[in-house]
Amino acid sequence: MPAEKTAIQGRVLLVSAPWPLFNRPSLPLGALKAYLRKTLPHIQTDACHLFLQVAQALGYDRYQGVSRRVWRAEAVFSALLYPEHAHLAESLYTRTLKRGDAATDDFQQLVRQVKGVMGGWLQRINWSALDLVGFTISFCQVTASLYLISKIKDICPSLPVVVGGSSFSGERSADLLNVFPHIDYLVVGEGERPLAGLLRHLTAPRPRSIPGLPDGLFTADTKPGEMDRFCQLHRLDRLPAPDYDDYFNMLAGFSPHHRFFPVLPVEASRGCWWHRQDAAGQFGGCAFCNLNLQWQGYRTKGAQQVVLEMDYLAQRHQVLSLTFADNAFPMKQASSIFDGIRGLGRDLSIFTELRANTPPSLLRKMKLAGVDTVQVGIEALSSHLLAKMNKGVRVIDNLSLMKHCEALGIVNASNLMLHFPGSDDQDVNETLHSLAFARWYRPLKTVSFWLGLESPTYRFARRFHIRSVFNHPNLKKLFPEPVAANLRFMIQGYRGDRTRQLKLWRTVEKKTRQWQKDYDTLQRQTGGKPALAFRDGGRFIIIDQHLPMQATVRHRLTGISAEIYRYCHIPRALKQVAGMFAAHSPEQIRAFFKSMVKKRLIFEEGDCYLSLAAPASWLQ
Ligand code: SF4
Repeated sequence: MPAEKTAIQGRVLLVSAPWPLFNRPSLPLGALKAYLRKTLPHIQTDACHLFLQVAQALGYDRYQGVSRRVWRAEAVFSALLYPEHAHLAESLYTRTLKRGDAATDDFQQLVRQVKGVMGGWLQRINWSALDLVGFTISFCQVTASLYLISKIKDICPSLPVVVGGSSFSGERSADLLNVFPHIDYLVVGEGERPLAGLLRHLTAPRPRSIPGLPDGLFTADTKPGEMDRFCQLHRLDRLPAPDYDDYFNMLAGFSPHHRFFPVLPVEASRGCWWHRQDAAGQFGGCAFCNLNLQWQGYRTKGAQQVVLEMDYLAQRHQVLSLTFADNAFPMKQASSIFDGIRGLGRDLSIFTELRANTPPSLLRKMKLAGVDTVQVGIEALSSHLLAKMNKGVRVIDNLSLMKHCEALGIVNASNLMLHFPGSDDQDVNETLHSLAFARWYRPLKTVSFWLGLESPTYRFARRFHIRSVFNHPNLKKLFPEPVAANLRFMIQGYRGDRTRQLKLWRTVEKKTRQWQKDYDTLQRQTGGKPALAFRDGGRFIIIDQHLPMQATVRHRLTGISAEIYRYCHIPRALKQVAGMFAAHSPEQIRAFFKSMVKKRLIFEEGDCYLSLAAPASWLQ
C-alpha cells in the first residue's frame, strides 16, 4: 500500500551561498533539512547548496582559488552588494593575490560572471510560493548571503527571511538586524529548534494564536538583555542523519565532465569538551579559539548512531570519502565509533580533527577504520607558548602524535601558528630547537594568528599584549563606513605587538620552508616511508635515519637499550623508566638518553623522553 502523503501546509527554502568548499554538501543545511522533515513533515523543506552551482559555472579550480581566502571571497559579493564601493572590494581582492594563484586576476569579469549565475537562480525560484527563506552563514558567506537576501526582498518584499550560522553568533550579532533591515529573524546559536518554532509560528492557521517568538530567535525589536536566550537540542541522539539529497540532485544534473565524487560531512558531536582553565583561572579552552560560540556545552551522538549514519550516507550516495566536522572529536566514544566503522567492512577514506593527546592505540584503530588524514591541534612546538595558548599539551606530546601519524601513514595536515600575541624569544627558541627533532615528520603548515571575535585572546586582550580591539580594517573595504562600524565580523583587528611578532618569527618561517623541502626530498629517497624508522629484531632494533641527499645512517640498539627505546614510544618520565628498568641506575639511563638526544633519535623535555623513530611494522 503506498504511504499516505502528508498534505503540504507550508514551504521553506534553506540556502547555503558561496564560498564553502564545493566538493562537500553543507552540513548545516543537511542537518536542518533532515530535522525539519522529521519534526514538521507537513512543511516542504528544500535545501539549495547554491555554492555548488557557482563552482560549476566558474570552473572548480577558479572557484577554489577564490574560496580559499576569506577576504578574497567576501570581496566578490561586496562589489555586487555595493557597486559604488566596488573599487575598494577590488583592491582588497587584488591584494590577496599571489604569484601563480589559482584565482583569476580579472576581478570585474569574475563579478559579472557570478552576478549572471545569481540572476538566473533568482529568476528560477517562485519566491511568492514560499513561507520562509533561510540562510546559513559561515566563513566566506557574509556578503554573498546579504546580496542574495537584498535581491530576494526586491522580488518578494513580504517573504520572511531568517539567517543563522557561525558568522553571527555571540554578543552583538543582533546588530545585523539593525544594519540589514531585509533580515527579519536571526537565530543565535543552534538552528534546529528555533527554525522549527519559527515555521510553526509562520504557518499556523492563526499566527497570533502562538504567543511570541520561540527562544533562540531574534528580531530588530529584541532587547539587548535577551540575547543569550539560546535554544538548542538537549541531546543529539534523536537527530536524523543529514539530508544531502538536494546537493546530489544538483550534481546529477551537471554534464558528466562536471561531476565528481564528493566528500560527505558527518558530525559525532557539537561544541568542545576541552574546558580546562588557564593558569590564571580566567578562561577555559584554547586561548585563540572562537569556534564554539554557536553552542552551549558539549553534546555527542551515540557511537552506534554515528556508525549507522556514516554507512547510510555512504550507501545512499555511493561515496566513500567522509569528513568529521566536529571541533573536538568525542574521545569517550572514539574507540567504539572506529571499531564500529571498521566493522562495516568498507574501504572508507576519513578525515577528522584530533587533539594531540590522542593515544597511539586509538590512532591505530582510526587507521584501520579508514582515517587517512587528520588535523591535530598542534599549533606550537614550544611548551612555553602552548601554555600561553592553554593547549594542555607539551611539545613532547605533539611530537609523539606526529611520529605516530608518520608510522601509520596518516597524513597529518596540521598547523604551526606564528605571531601569537605575547610570544617571546623563549617561544621562538624552543620552536627552533623542536624543529630539529620534528624534521622526520610531515611539516606543519605555518599560519598567522588572527584574532577571533570573543575568543579568550579577544576577551582578555591585555594579557596577550593587545592594547585595543576593533573591527578588522578590511571590513571598511567590504561595507560602507556606517555598516562596517555596526557589524561584528568573526575576524577582528587589534593593536598590539604584531610588528614585533612578524620579526620574531621570521627564522621559524625560513626553517619551516626548509623543513618542507627536506621532507619532500626524504619522501623521494624513502619511497614515502618514514625517514626515521626502526625495525625490530627481538633482542635488538635497527634504526634507519635518512638524511636529505646523504647516505642513510644506521644504528643498532641491543638488549636493555632496545627495550628502553621501545618503552619510550610515548613520552616517559625518567622516574618511570628507572622504575621499569630497575637493574640500571638513573645515571646510566640518563647517559643513554643523552647520547640518543645528541643523535636526534630521542627527544627530551624536562625529565621526559620520547623515542623519535617510527616502528616500521606499523605501516604493514
Ligand atoms: S581549538 Fe579545538 S580543542 Fe581548542 S577550544 Fe577550540 S575547539 Fe576546543
